[in-house]
Amino acid sequence: MGVVHPNAVECERRIALARYIDSVCRLCRRENLKMFLKGDRCYSDKCAFDRRGYAPGQHGQRRRKVSDYGIQLREKQKVKRMYGLLEGQFSGLFKKAERKRGVTGTNLLVFLERRLDNVVYRLGFANSRVQARQLVRHNHFTVSGKKMDIPSYLVKIGDVVEVRDKSRKVPVILDATEAVVRRGIPEWLDLEKGQLKGTVKAYPVREELTMPIQEQLIVELYSK
Ligand code: SF4
Repeated sequence: MGVVHPNAVECERRIALARYIDSVCRLCRRENLKMFLKGDRCYSDKCAFDRRGYAPGQHGQRRRKVSDYGIQLREKQKVKRMYGLLEGQFSGLFKKAERKRGVTGTNLLVFLERRLDNVVYRLGFANSRVQARQLVRHNHFTVSGKKMDIPSYLVKIGDVVEVRDKSRKVPVILDATEAVVRRGIPEWLDLEKGQLKGTVKAYPVREELTMPIQEQLIVELYSK
């Protein structure tokens, strides 16, 4: 597939967000956090969160008392939406994080970051994780020389993620490589922009994951 139609990207975003059919900007407002789900728009003055930074709906501006459970649930929903996962995918990753040695919450965040769709987004080959997922599914990338169309693939240290030869002129990829300067490339990845490829130098450490996430709340929620 050579060209990704913008409407197809929108369609994919909505599927990925658990068939959420309303504006995804409502999710940022609901979670009280700019989650950058819409690529370019998030950096423009059209960002709904910047314009109306309170919860959507008729009672969105009311102050509510929230239980501990409610706080934990919101944190889980926030992270799940940030990475655009369905509940089953998210809880599957949590179980994997639990089985791994170390701190479960940190393991979870590292697994989320190691997903191929996230790495494609972090390297600047896509403007959002949802767009990255669609590009991966449509076979625009190789991992260490092999075609890879599984967004949930967890990259390993030394993996090289590269735009395939046939995809090097896909406009959304080229646009994204220009726009990535706004957010920068994480330390644990090494980008060779001219070659449209990036290498996984290491797994991220907790301090490098700067989004405001309290992963311990998610661990507490799943421990109930
Ligand atoms: Fe969130 Fe703003 Fe992007 Fe909409 S435009 S997804 S509110 S950050």
